[in-house]
Amino acid sequence: MEKLIYEYSQAGKEGVSLPQGFESAVSPAELIPAELLRRSELQLPEVSEPEVVRHFTNLSTMNHHVDKDLYPLGSCTMKYNPKVNDRSAALSGLANCHPLQDVGTVQGALQIIYELERYLCAITGFQAATLQPAAGSHGELTGVLLMKKYFDQKGENRQFILIPDSAHGTNPASAASANYKTISLKSNQRGCIDLEDLSAKMNPSVAGLMLTNPNTLGLFEEEVGEINEIVHNQGGLVYMDGANLNALLGIVRPGDMGFDITHINLHKTFATPHGGGGPGSGAIAVNEKLVEFLPVPRIEKNGDRFSLNYCYPRTIGKVLGFYGNFGVIVRAYCYIRMMGTKGLQAVSRNAILNANYLRQKLSSVFEIPYNRICMHEFVASGERQLQRSGIKTLDIAKRLLDYGFHSPTVYFPLIVKEALMIEPTETESKETLDRFIEALVKIDQEANNEPEKLHNAPWTTPVRRLDELKANKELNICWGK
Ligand SMILES: *Cc1c(COP(=O)(O)O)cnc(C)c1O
Repeated sequence: MEKLIYEYSQAGKEGVSLPQGFESAVSPAELIPAELLRRSELQLPEVSEPEVVRHFTNLSTMNHHVDKDLYPLGSCTMKYNPKVNDRSAALSGLANCHPLQDVGTVQGALQIIYELERYLCAITGFQAATLQPAAGSHGELTGVLLMKKYFDQKGENRQFILIPDSAHGTNPASAASANYKTISLKSNQRGCIDLEDLSAKMNPSVAGLMLTNPNTLGLFEEEVGEINEIVHNQGGLVYMDGANLNALLGIVRPGDMGFDITHINLHKTFATPHGGGGPGSGAIAVNEKLVEFLPVPRIEKNGDRFSLNYCYPRTIGKVLGFYGNFGVIVRAYCYIRMMGTKGLQAVSRNAILNANYLRQKLSSVFEIPYNRICMHEFVASGERQLQRSGIKTLDIAKRLLDYGFHSPTVYFPLIVKEALMIEPTETESKETLDRFIEALVKIDQEANNEPEKLHNAPWTTPVRRLDELKANKELNICWGK
């Protein structure tokens, strides 16, 4: 186990060398009022440069991550993120500009936001976009607030939102956060929305439908045209959860399919490292019905100058301080510029190809309840292993760590028992996918012959199987206690 960096500390060790005279050149006492000055020494570890580098290198291998190996976590799009994006976001002129600077001094930053909004409109087929929301779920909430404002302006009081049972879990949460009551829609035998159920539940008290497309089974909603028509005929709006845009780039556009709003997870599809609650961006794009309600300020271009316009009387207001998570915006901008139209289309084509390759190869090992051409992900079931050997999907997930892979998403979506939701992403080679298949084939054999290997997995990780219930109920994040 790697020690804390404080445990390496020894008085007098140094990891930096400051220029001669540095300390006397900067005198905090002259710049900072006396009452705000620190009175005791700052307790920093004193370590050499190699100790710092080795410490963090060791730490970085204790957890699984995309730079280490495949991370097929369904719905999360854990693809490899090109380092050039991080480099660009770290450029001093971008990383060090301040949101309160005069707009005349941050024209380049505004241009990036403006152009990224235009790219996202081109990719989704919508009229306008905002980059303010800080996560996919935050984009959903923003979108639902736009729906609410739209009906308020029309003097309509609609109280319900329809949500299919194959939707992402954040959809009902977002609808409820905006004070809507949710009504669940059933999936049919093909894993898509049941049109009869939708027709029966759609009426003028319903604000609209939130549709995850492709849905959480990794399936494209086949009757999307009919679905949008049923909702629109009753005056409702259709929100497309577009966090799974990784399957659609350059192939279809939500705007062309008749949706009114979509959110895009820049931190998934557009290659910003994510997870662990780090910064994200749940940009949303809308059609002409909703443009006037978008959050302010809107960034506008006049000639070659960019400015902030707060003058939208019907706006829902701000949903975040300033203009969104700018570092994520720069990464997405850089990624889109680097890939170009052809490259983005190749992303989705390869994501779909990789998922279908895995689905086909794994169908001899696992039950696959909706076994037909999928999009960027698919859902397998551990039912067979449970019935045959008493091995749970959780055991399989934990054993995968011993083979050096992160587990797929497990026990989600809820409509598949013992679910394993697998999203390989486009950045993985056939060789990597074959290694993953081989690991699952071996694990399936172990389930039969050496079940205790699975019950007690993982064996090779820095910490063994965690008591997840206890970790949730008695969260303790202090070291050594
Ligand atoms: C990831 C995801 C979300 C939520 O996005 P966050 O950024 O995690 O809030 C919503 N819907 C779908 C389909 C997703 O995959």
